[in-house]
Amino acid sequence: MLLITNVTAVTVDAQRRIVTDAAILVEDERIAEIGKATDLMSRHSDAEQLDGRGMLALPGLIDAHAHSDQALLRGAADDLPWRPYLQEVIWPLLGQRIPEDALISLKLCMLEMIKSGTTCFVDSIVPSHYDFDILAQAVVDMGMRAVLAKYVLPDALFERDASPVVKGEFSAEEESLADAVRGIQAWHGAAGGRLQVWFGPLVPREEPPASASPDFYRRISQLAAEHGTGITIHLAGTIDDPPFFEREFGMLPAEFAQRYDLVGPNVLLINGTWFSEEEIPILAETNTRLVHSPSANMKMGEGVAKVPQMRAAGVTVALGCDAGANNNCHDMIREMKAASLLHNVTMMDPTTLTAEDALEMATIDGARAIGREDELGSLQVGKQADVILVDLQQPHTMPIHDPIANLVYAAHGGNVDTVMVAGKVLMRGREVLVADEAAILEEAQARGAALLERGGIEVAPGWPIE
Ligand SMILES: [Zn+2]
Repeated sequence: MLLITNVTAVTVDAQRRIVTDAAILVEDERIAEIGKATDLMSRHSDAEQLDGRGMLALPGLIDAHAHSDQALLRGAADDLPWRPYLQEVIWPLLGQRIPEDALISLKLCMLEMIKSGTTCFVDSIVPSHYDFDILAQAVVDMGMRAVLAKYVLPDALFERDASPVVKGEFSAEEESLADAVRGIQAWHGAAGGRLQVWFGPLVPREEPPASASPDFYRRISQLAAEHGTGITIHLAGTIDDPPFFEREFGMLPAEFAQRYDLVGPNVLLINGTWFSEEEIPILAETNTRLVHSPSANMKMGEGVAKVPQMRAAGVTVALGCDAGANNNCHDMIREMKAASLLHNVTMMDPTTLTAEDALEMATIDGARAIGREDELGSLQVGKQADVILVDLQQPHTMPIHDPIANLVYAAHGGNVDTVMVAGKVLMRGREVLVADEAAILEEAQARGAALLERGGIEVAPGWPIE
């Protein structure tokens, strides 16, 4: 038994209660009790204590859209429109990656997440040519919770010589589906449920050419149902996507998703930046979830997803940091602020997406987005003990009048002091206990530099260097 004491507990429970002078009793991997510290400390004097004096206790943050294998590409493709970004930098570099790059990239990503309060993430594309078992084991070893979406893609992609994706990098339809099923059988529900394995199909889009193969998506949907797992897929993320769906299929992107079984509570759509008003009811009626990445959308100049309208229509919208290359960080606290600012300026109304709204998106809505709201996303008795302590006693987060406002608008990941997942402490006093931080940074620097060299990508500031 572990007793977290003297915290302000922001529970994000159904009543959204905030308990001051609180304590949280953790038994094994679950929250056993939440209440006033004096009461719990007197009744559980035998429990080991973790003093959180002056800190906020929150449910662990959930990053519902990440590309762990792009952490090594941080700073490699900045200030570029998305086509040259993908075609001239990201794809050539992805083609050069070796399994060791993928592993250190994942470790770097998880290290950054732990240090900024993220306890659970969705890794949206995990290609077959990486060693999936090694990556899954790395998540287990670092103590995090994750959905690993195995990349699956249709044969149509391989029939065109113009495909910019390096041949041999990805396995084709039968092979990729079989490999995904093998990953699900081996790892879905592993480590006491900390790991989930989903399908991460290729986005239907003109690049790579002919990647849209409608029946392929029906097949994935059937397989996901058969194995009791989920699907996450990028959709309608760029301004070119709706005209493509219109031209190719005579329908809007969400209509395509509905027609080919890419809707429902086990489907997490990524971006949806270009969903129109008329597509929102499709998401709401089918209980399809969306993950929004405001920083990446803004940095890439991609557009503004209709998040306030979707939330008003009852669509679950989670938050995600996206990738090292297009956001450049995996800090969910900064992402909450980005979400609020983006929608307030777009609607020209500062009440559009409040600090509380952003915190819901990063916690309980993230849990709902991955179908785990019964276990994650709030501090409640019986739920998994995924708890973070945030130290607001810093110059940039004082004075504290409204702790949620300070958390969302003034804090950043560096305010996170302690991180616990399933009752296990992963970081205490900003010291990561589950990995050798210095070794990860050193290897990431060496492998990142070598990767750019192999890919023939030179990166330098736009200003002269003397
Ligand atoms: Zn993405």
